[in-house]
Amino acid sequence: MLEIPAYGATSAKAPLAPFFIERRKPGPHDLLVDILYCGICHSDIHQARGEWGASVFPMVPGHEIVGTVVEAGNNVERWKVGDPVGIGCFVDSCRECEPCTAGEEQFCEQGMSQTYNSYERDGKTPTYGGYSTRITVNENYVLRIPENIPLERAAPLLCAGITTYSPLRQFGVKAGDDVAVVGLGGLGHMAVKLAKAMGAKVTVLSHSPAKRQDALRLGADDFVVTHYEEAFEKNTGRFDFILDTLSAQHDYNAYLNLLRRDGTMVLVGLPDPTPLAAAPLIMQRRRLAGSLIGGICEAQEMLDFCAEYGVAADVEVIPIQQINEAYERMIRSDVRYRFVIDIASLEQPQPMPRWDEERYNVSANSNQACW
Ligand code: NAP
Ligand code: ZN
Ligand code: ZN
Repeated sequence: MLEIPAYGATSAKAPLAPFFIERRKPGPHDLLVDILYCGICHSDIHQARGEWGASVFPMVPGHEIVGTVVEAGNNVERWKVGDPVGIGCFVDSCRECEPCTAGEEQFCEQGMSQTYNSYERDGKTPTYGGYSTRITVNENYVLRIPENIPLERAAPLLCAGITTYSPLRQFGVKAGDDVAVVGLGGLGHMAVKLAKAMGAKVTVLSHSPAKRQDALRLGADDFVVTHYEEAFEKNTGRFDFILDTLSAQHDYNAYLNLLRRDGTMVLVGLPDPTPLAAAPLIMQRRRLAGSLIGGICEAQEMLDFCAEYGVAADVEVIPIQQINEAYERMIRSDVRYRFVIDIASLEQPQPMPRWDEERYNVSANSNQACW
């Protein structure tokens, strides 16, 4: 096994802190990747804080990973040492079921092996994410980072990029469509750039008036502050498509009323459950749908699209030691527009206790079964 410095949570209530994890040595079809940058997704916060039910602790979050290949297994043909690569939200799946063979591995019938807070295919080895210096990963679950995208700005594409690209494509958004993006955070700012690159007219619906100038700079044609009820009255029936990225609870019904007849609202944000009324859907034959990240092929298509259209994330690069403050700032919607960890900061000398169950007070929320 390889002993790897990492940063993570030991329980849902603990701040993130350094410890060592173990990863497998690369097998014949594996790559060992030196992680350079890892984006911070709001899903990292939801999971590290146990907001989606039982989490697997200790947890090393991070599923927006970019780095370079430092070792390739004997049977690996597509990758070589030195290649810049990306790893997104999952690191394996059954590879046999209908979704897997259709390139929709995120819907694997056996359950995908998520990059963290999950298990390898054996169902018992915990997976650990990108807040760490190295990762071992099967060659088929790795993406090629196009040369012209700076690596730190590419990292957020691995989740925020694909999560917004996929619904725009799957629901057929096209040039000239009136698209609204709800929430200008990590996902939202990627949605603005991608929808704009696809030729849509883009409006940002935000509860942060101070983001107006940024929204327009990022490519939005209009910006609506959602604080005021008249914002909803004035924009009733306006949009063909709404992509809802909000991480916090809000009234879906109010947003549905902003759709035209036959318009579609797609949820990608995952807040606590929210009531839904039938009337806004029925009255204009509106549709409500959801979308989960995207498969490997579609993620590669997204990266190539970004390279072609000059799209990359706007990032604030931070050392890992600022992670807990970064989480608090994200909860306050105070990030422009994705934090990305410079993983080199993890190499700096600091106390690094080996993981030891007795040393940490594992909370009731943690999933003991993973040990
Ligand atoms: P983020 O960077 O924190 O952005 C969330 C945005 O939501 C904020 O910037 C803010 O935008 C808005 N917001 C936050 N709190 C709010 C509140 N109390 N009231 C109204 N608006 C609020 O988060 P993210 O990384 O983009 O992730 C967004 C959500 O998507 C999370 O729930 C995450 O778990 C989920 N997600 C889903 C998938 C998927 O596959 N479906 C993938 C990744 C993430 P404004 O300031 O502009 O209002
Ligand atoms: Zn994510
Ligand atoms: Zn499968």
